[in-house]
Amino acid sequence: MSVIEAMKVVARHQKGDLPIQMVPLANDLGIEVYRVPNWPDTLSGMISKSNTSASGFDIFVNAAHPETRRRFTIAHECAHAILHPDLIGDGITDDALYRSGLSNRVEAQANRLAADILMPRDRLNELIDHGITSVPQLARMFGVSEQAMAIRVGAPQDV
Ligand SMILES: [Zn+2]
Repeated sequence: MSVIEAMKVVARHQKGDLPIQMVPLANDLGIEVYRVPNWPDTLSGMISKSNTSASGFDIFVNAAHPETRRRFTIAHECAHAILHPDLIGDGITDDALYRSGLSNRVEAQANRLAADILMPRDRLNELIDHGITSVPQLARMFGVSEQAMAIRVGAPQDV
């Protein structure tokens, strides 16, 4: 699937109800998603070659992580499939900070697209225009962590 075709699939899912359902989105990209129990907390996810999925890629996500985290991980791994299919090789394993064997630039690209997938600007701006400006409320609506939403809306963050 080309980047343009993949982004059309993403756009279709972004028009529906919030939060965006990440497993169906991944499935529509031809990617199967598996939850892995018993991974260490320091591992977020992995994307690897698959003989069975339509895209040729499977995503594995740490089942022990909270839902918002798992959703971001799936979006991040989908971003690798969309942007970096030729870099996946024998697989990319992302740690808790979404670092892998790939460059920081490549990981930053995947994080940026993951945020774009989960928190589409037009949907967010529409809600903000309607007076919904609470970061916790917006985070709940988009199914992301408050930290991810705070970054997205440019709000000061507690650290
Ligand atoms: Zn990554």
